[in-house]
Amino acid sequence: MESITGYTLRELRDKVSQLGMESYRANQILRWIYKKKVTDFELMTDLPRNYRLHLREIFSVCSLKLIKSVEAPSAVKYLFKTKDDHLIETVLIKERDHLTLCVSSQIGCAVGCKFCATALDGLKRNLKTEEIVDQFLQVQLTLKEHIRNVVFMGMGEPLANYDNVRKAVEIMISPWGFDLSKRRVTLSTSGLLKPLCKMRRDPLLKEINLAVSINAPFQELREEIMPLSEKNDLEELMKILREFPLPKYRRITLEYVLIKDLNDSPSMAKALADLIGKSVKRFKVNLIPYNPDPFLPYERPSLDRIMEFQRILWSKGISTFVRFSKGVEVFGACGQLRHNRNMLKSHFHESYSQMANGVSIDNCCSSLYKSNPGSSF
Ligand code: SAH
Ligand code: SF4
Repeated sequence: MESITGYTLRELRDKVSQLGMESYRANQILRWIYKKKVTDFELMTDLPRNYRLHLREIFSVCSLKLIKSVEAPSAVKYLFKTKDDHLIETVLIKERDHLTLCVSSQIGCAVGCKFCATALDGLKRNLKTEEIVDQFLQVQLTLKEHIRNVVFMGMGEPLANYDNVRKAVEIMISPWGFDLSKRRVTLSTSGLLKPLCKMRRDPLLKEINLAVSINAPFQELREEIMPLSEKNDLEELMKILREFPLPKYRRITLEYVLIKDLNDSPSMAKALADLIGKSVKRFKVNLIPYNPDPFLPYERPSLDRIMEFQRILWSKGISTFVRFSKGVEVFGACGQLRHNRNMLKSHFHESYSQMANGVSIDNCCSSLYKSNPGSSF
């Protein structure tokens, strides 16, 4: 059965025409799903009854089964199961005045950063468009408040799954979709050069926020801790970023995970400032204090060391922010999401037994909706 959330409006108009329905029916269907949060075709009452039955035979609305959520004061981590029995994680971050959803783009990751838990299991596969869209849809269905921001900072390297991520972004920012502001969608990448060049010519993706994980100011160190499979040339990456077309008042975020005794020294801060050079208006830096993982040997630097690093960058005129990731309590922070984490078994014990019982994932959205009739988009 096909998932309808993998279709853009244009594609769905073609598809319903092929099925013998008027193309405007696609607008009606997507309005029900994305605006009215109705995911059962039977309840789409402005469609003729025979259409509803036909749609039900062909499409499902959900491609993921929401297995469990774990709530912490600053974040909620959601565990989903795919139709082929993989687990993926999505994190809702509770900011002071809004909600941000951190979505996964792949199951695992092939980039292999030494400090990142997602890398530990390698890459299983890319997520499909509908599996990315469904993370948003299903989490939103459980909430009263609208999710305002989306960040592609969950499991995986989004630019290694370009086409599916692109389509999911289109669904997120289109008026017929979730209708999020382009400025509120951020794609974070380890800096794959070829897809970055494609992205800078892409009328859709060049409009959203770009964050690039730099993590080391020197070529050698970067190669060591971020063994990208393709050419990993820091100078070339910076050149592409200096020439990247930016909407007015927009800056590229350079992310830098601060790891104790690895990349946190004052000389590294100076080297990072040199790398940015004169482009201080084009970039801002987010320093992410390392989130430890029991399976990895790295540690978080002391607060003094973090502040010293920030001070050096500020002294060179570079806007620099320290971002303590939320969700550490539930292993839901940056770099802690992992497909095959043993920890999950205790957090999600119940769900594992459910999975063993073979819970079906068809119509899961409708059952979610029914259990949360008061929720609104
Ligand atoms: N693959 C993309 C997006 C997912 S990772 C990327 O690498 O940008 C999102 C961010 O988490 C990246 O900036 C990455 O460097 C950071 N990160 C990875 N492991 C981390 C950890 N253990 N603690 C803090 N940040 C981490
Ligand atoms: Fe992949 Fe990003 Fe983790 Fe590196 S930091 S392994 S690119 S998810």
